[in-house]
Amino acid sequence: MTGVQTGRGDIKAEVVVNCAGMWAREVGLMCGVNVPLHACEHFYVVTEAMEGLSPQLPVLRDTDGCAYYREDAGKLLLGAFEPRAKPWGMEGIPEDFCFDRLPEDMEHFLPVLKQATRRVPALEDTGIHTWFNGPESFTPDVRYLLGEAPEVRNFHVAAGFNSIGIQSAGGAGKVLAEWIVAGHPPVDLWDVDIQRVFPFQGDSRYLVERASEALGLLYAMHWPYRQYETARGIHTSPLHERLESRGACFGEVAGWERANWFAPAGVAPRYEYSYKRQNWFPYAAEEHRAVREAVALFDQTSFAKFRVQGADAEAVLQRICANDVGVAPGRIVYTQWLNPRGGIEADLTVTRLAEDTYQIVTSAVSALRNLTWLHRQIPDTARVAVTDETFTTAVIGLMGPHSRLLLGSLVEENLSNEAFPFGWAREITLAGVPVRAQRITYVGELGWELYIPADSAVRVFDALADAGPAHGLRLAGMHTLDSCRIEKAYRHWGHDITDEDTPLEAGLGFACAFDKAVPFIGRDALLRQKEQRLTRRLVQFALEDPAPLLYHNEPIYRDGEIVGHIASGNYGHTLGRAIGLGYVNHPDGITAEFIRSGSYEIEVACERIPARASLRPLYDPENERIRG
Ligand SMILES: Cc1cc2nc3c(=O)[nH]c(=O)nc-3n(C[C@H](O)[C@H](O)[C@H](O)COP(=O)(O)OP(=O)(O)OC[C@H]3O[C@@H](n4cnc5c(N)ncnc54)[C@H](O)[C@@H]3O)c2cc1C
Repeated sequence: MTGVQTGRGDIKAEVVVNCAGMWAREVGLMCGVNVPLHACEHFYVVTEAMEGLSPQLPVLRDTDGCAYYREDAGKLLLGAFEPRAKPWGMEGIPEDFCFDRLPEDMEHFLPVLKQATRRVPALEDTGIHTWFNGPESFTPDVRYLLGEAPEVRNFHVAAGFNSIGIQSAGGAGKVLAEWIVAGHPPVDLWDVDIQRVFPFQGDSRYLVERASEALGLLYAMHWPYRQYETARGIHTSPLHERLESRGACFGEVAGWERANWFAPAGVAPRYEYSYKRQNWFPYAAEEHRAVREAVALFDQTSFAKFRVQGADAEAVLQRICANDVGVAPGRIVYTQWLNPRGGIEADLTVTRLAEDTYQIVTSAVSALRNLTWLHRQIPDTARVAVTDETFTTAVIGLMGPHSRLLLGSLVEENLSNEAFPFGWAREITLAGVPVRAQRITYVGELGWELYIPADSAVRVFDALADAGPAHGLRLAGMHTLDSCRIEKAYRHWGHDITDEDTPLEAGLGFACAFDKAVPFIGRDALLRQKEQRLTRRLVQFALEDPAPLLYHNEPIYRDGEIVGHIASGNYGHTLGRAIGLGYVNHPDGITAEFIRSGSYEIEVACERIPARASLRPLYDPENERIRG
């Protein structure tokens, strides 16, 4: 960033903040920055004076009625966040638009007004003094867009305030100012970080469609696992039709349609939302059992994959990765990328494909963030190229104790522990297709991830599906992947580990190679932390009562006092109870004995449920099943 050109001359500036409200998308486009937001019409009415209305009346939000109320100089203001909004400004927003009003639309507002007369019966006898309609910008996930843009250094964004820009202004301004001064966010702000958005979301047609849903989500029920209904089908795996015809219920992440669970024959693959067990619970339990007792197939194509290639690839990655990636070709390394404060920026695997070539695999949601981090750490003089192979490579996960038999029935290569140990990658041929098999797992079982040229993925899938029944193969979805990983206490970036958590706090110290020749980013901060006592540690919890569920944010009690909250939760079907991961905090330091000696409860829906706490995974702590 060097400055801004205006009609009245140029302004030099090292840092520029795009806070142009509903014009922010267009301002971003001026310098190639994607700011996906779209204006929608926002309606409110102000009644005639109402007798007895106190200026002290608190703001009332009636989420079921899609309405909010507040006193306004003796009158009542009633605003709407209706389920289907009216996008505005599709032809661009006039430059001279300033505090203007849009035409009224009584027909559109009437359902909310009708409902409002039930909540506030006095409205029946009170006239409407003002009908107001004004535009405001909405983002695809109804969260703001804050922070430094991935495309341009020192170009910051503070936009997309989704109708809560006034109430959010103080906090958003404060953290952005601190972000600019320090060069990093002052706390974990991933929820609102502009690095979470993808290029496809800048498309105006996508935005028009999604904005119509986004406005209503402000007041809609925040069901667990709730899926967007608009602007779907952006990225589909080559296996999409195969999975769909076998009962897949899809959910969306980073634009990818992913099979979340599979409905058996005769059951519609549709969510029935609830805070209790949802309709897919028993089907996911069956998928989970297949992973643990037979073999399951996961479509993991949405994983982001980057190839890092060149004479300096090892040197560059040794600095970025906390673990040692100076390994033999064929080795897979689990590692974190840390910031200089020791916080976890990324959690991924790095496979050395050749002396000068590595493949990085990370989650779909973190793709752009991780790619940006990688590019920004590569010195200008380094001889290395980064290629995004996400869309050219499909991934099938074959997981479970029968995976070796099933895969072995289709390939000539030796899959024994001696020939193909855990943590290695090998080229194999499956159904005539060259496939890279990686012996690695996110579910804690014997298994392989198969990296397949996207155009041949269906052929490989068909071969596995044909041979599968003899080995008890079942298709499994993302809910099962998550249920299995939480039993094994595998961390999930964004929930269990973020840029303000260190590997030592998260129990990932084993993945930090302190002694390797190239010191990794964050090493000094970790060494300093090692000298002190840890005051927080990530702990796995299992509820004693098998009935309640955990999602996240449930308070953790130790000996009757709140010591933290659940960072991620799911039902562990093998352990037969809800499992959660969460940080336990204690200012005087936390030892294994401190964790062991406490008595724990997790609060679920206002009820404290006794829980067992463990620093070691409750499922297969010795990794015997992975070694197969
Ligand atoms: C009817 C209505 C009711 C609302 N009620 C509430 C409420 O009760 N509580 C609440 O918290 N929020 C409310 N909001 C939302 C709130 O008003 C917005 O979220 C907030 O104003 C957004 O602030 P902003 O600074 O991002 O954008 P804006 O306030 O729109 O400011 C953007 C500025 O950028 C300028 N600009 C644009 N392009 C350029 C350019 N190229 N060069 C220079 N300048 C440019 C514009 O002129 C404008 O001044 C309401 C919105 C509406 C429409």
